[in-house]
Amino acid sequence: MRFTIIGSGTLVPDAERGSAGFLVQEGGASVLVDGGSGTMQRLKRLGVDVRALDGGVYSHRHIDHVGDLAPILFALKVGVDMPRTRDYPIWAGEGFVAFLNGMYDVYGKWISSDRWSVPVVEMSLSGASTAMLPGGVRLDTLPANHTAGALHLRFTSPAGYTVVFSGDTGPSENLARLSAGVDVLVTECAVPGKDPWDSHLGPEDVAALLDAARPKRAILTHLYPDNDPAAALARIARTGIPVERGFDDQFVEG
Ligand SMILES: [Zn+2]
Ligand SMILES: [Zn+2]
Repeated sequence: MRFTIIGSGTLVPDAERGSAGFLVQEGGASVLVDGGSGTMQRLKRLGVDVRALDGGVYSHRHIDHVGDLAPILFALKVGVDMPRTRDYPIWAGEGFVAFLNGMYDVYGKWISSDRWSVPVVEMSLSGASTAMLPGGVRLDTLPANHTAGALHLRFTSPAGYTVVFSGDTGPSENLARLSAGVDVLVTECAVPGKDPWDSHLGPEDVAALLDAARPKRAILTHLYPDNDPAAALARIARTGIPVERGFDDQFVEG
């Protein structure tokens, strides 16, 4: 299984870092995970045409994570050299169907087709959910501590390789639970200190998370510009767990 960071940035424009977006590839299948503005173009640069994707998983509905969904559905519809004839399934937190229906109200036929549909599997916001993704990857989710509908995501390959993506979240026991002993924890570290709204993690929160979960490796993503990465990494180093700042096009696999 390969887990690629398409966009390691935030909603703040950054020449080097796209909005949140990731790709899970296994057994010939490619599933998008989140996808803010610019995801389609960045995927193409990686050699992946969105019209060939096998579906999408969404951690939550903030625009830096879902901004390219309408453009992707539009692209599926207007594909000229690669017209799509199969469904584009989505896995996301409860409430996503209503969100998608709102998009249909706005865009209608521009993002829908007689040849394919977008079946949505809604994952629980009150406990654990599990689903099987194309390619045989198992998806496990737990509710995150962020905006409504937010999830933590764990991907497990048929061979047992595990990657957790925190999504956006404040301090969360669910995240520590889901990422206990995993091969790679890709976690947000949005803010430099303590988030007064408890909806994002700072370096001390990430250090506490790593102490609790003991993943084999950690990758930081979603740092706002005022969060100095060197200072953040220095504060997390005491955990003894290998930790780095992720970058666009970086991947892990196993
Ligand atoms: Zn968010
Ligand atoms: Zn975000």
